[in-house]
Formats: sequence, structure tokens, C-alpha cells
Amino acid sequence: MTHPCLRCGACCATYRVAFHWMETDAGGGIVPAALTEHLDPHRVNMHGTNAYEPRCRSLVGEVGKAAHCGVYDVRPSPCHDLQPAWENGTPSPQCDKARLRHGMPPLTPADFAL
Ligand code: SF4
Ligand code: SF4
Repeated sequence: MTHPCLRCGACCATYRVAFHWMETDAGGGIVPAALTEHLDPHRVNMHGTNAYEPRCRSLVGEVGKAAHCGVYDVRPSPCHDLQPAWENGTPSPQCDKARLRHGMPPLTPADFAL
């Protein structure tokens, strides 16, 4: 079964993805600074996410059909923190909200049933 996130991508096109600049390679971290833009003296955000209709420029594909992170191995901490609802048996209001915004129902435990 395809992982639900690979048919979704909604969270990457809903939220401002902001984090401390030291997560970037310019600060000794792994997130390419070239994929970010200045937000405030301490934070940057992923390009494309600080917008009225956010969409991370590193998102590949079409939301709700087939989408994946183009920089998965070097994505920033907020992307690690946002968990798909019920993948580990717990709800995820951020996941639910993003999916609803893009016209998809929230995930249920059945989405992860074998
Ligand atoms: S909104 Fe939820 S299901 Fe969709 S990509 Fe993000 S974590 Fe995955
Ligand atoms: S870096 Fe990847 S996981 Fe994070 S918002 Fe952008 S596309 Fe989504």
C-alpha cells in the first residue's frame, strides 16, 4: 500500500515552515540555505511557505494526487515533527487541518492497516 503522504502533500502546501537559521548549511546544519528565505533575525522559512497560499518549493508533484518532498533527507525540523495522523496510533490535528484545507478527509487508523 502506498503511504498516505505520497498521495497527499497537503501539509507542505498549508503551513509556514519556519525554523532556526542554524538548521541550514550556512549555520552548520543540513538544510540547504538556498531553499530558504529570511524570516526574522533568528528564523528562516522554506521558500514558498510564507505566503497567503503556501506551497513549499521543494514539494514535488500534485497535492492530493501524487506528491513527495524533494529534499526529504535534509528537510528541517518542523517537517520531522508533523506526523501523519494515526501512523503511530496518535491523532495529528495539523495533518487533519491541512488535508481538510485541500479537500481531503482526515486520515483514520484504517489508512495504516496492513
Ligand atoms: S497532511 Fe498528513 S497525510 Fe498529508 S502529507 Fe502531511 S502528514 Fe502526510
Ligand atoms: S521541506 Fe519537504 S517536507 Fe518540508 S514542507 Fe518542504 S516539501 Fe514538505
